[in-house]
Amino acid sequence: MRDLASDLRHCAINTATLGFREPIEVVIDAVARTGFGAIAPWRREIEGHDIRAIARRVREAGLAVTGYCRSTYIPATDRAGFAANIEANRRAIDDAAVLGAGSFVLVVGGLPAGSKDISAARTQVAEGTALLHEHGKARGVRIALEPLHPVYAAERSCLSLLSEALDICDRIEGGAKDPWLGVCLDAYHVWWDPNLARDVARAAKRILGYHVCDWLVPTQDVLNDRGMMGDGIIDLRAIRSLVEDAGYDGFVEAEIFSTLNWWKRPIDETLAACRERFATAT
Ligand code: ZN
Repeated sequence: MRDLASDLRHCAINTATLGFREPIEVVIDAVARTGFGAIAPWRREIEGHDIRAIARRVREAGLAVTGYCRSTYIPATDRAGFAANIEANRRAIDDAAVLGAGSFVLVVGGLPAGSKDISAARTQVAEGTALLHEHGKARGVRIALEPLHPVYAAERSCLSLLSEALDICDRIEGGAKDPWLGVCLDAYHVWWDPNLARDVARAAKRILGYHVCDWLVPTQDVLNDRGMMGDGIIDLRAIRSLVEDAGYDGFVEAEIFSTLNWWKRPIDETLAACRERFATAT
């Protein structure tokens, strides 16, 4: 396993960790100053801004861009809505290309308003993923499906299991040696999966990103009360070991939604805590 304590350059910061309180330029400089190797920006920080200037600032700070977060939800109540969602994602993939992102992260969406048909939502996700894979390949951007914990199945992601994500990848792309379609693995979403070891090994080169934070007990809010690495019950070292044994040598990315704690602190304090916990608890 890689030693994150001696080389922080393997570590990345997802800007959600800092609570979206500072302009992206300030965040880029702070992440670089703390010594991390990469950053994962969100569309809310990029769209409507000078994307080329932001991309240049990231490069000049010496940072890579891991994943560009994240997709417009795919399932819709009708075909026009579906087409609009795909189009919004195509434009975001164009921006991911300008940023030089390692991947565009698909959080696929749950049930469209008024629907109780999760299998129809999943069908739309599979169809939409195929379209976005095509567009990503044309733009030189890899597409990373991020399965979310099943507690989010209704509203955020009808894609819950790593194995389901890999099934979609295999159906669209077959056994690709250099895949353009893969998964973003988030320890918070997959730690409980009894088939995790099997499926991480199966994922192999399809692992395009790896997110970490911790599951607090008790958790106050499954969306916004995520813990700093080491503060909860996820065996993060064991999961990273699986991921690296599967051949993943990309960034380990902290992504901590924490309205109750870390988002209230100065960003340099949160970044310093990440640096320490990458070394001791990840
Ligand atoms: Zn994530």
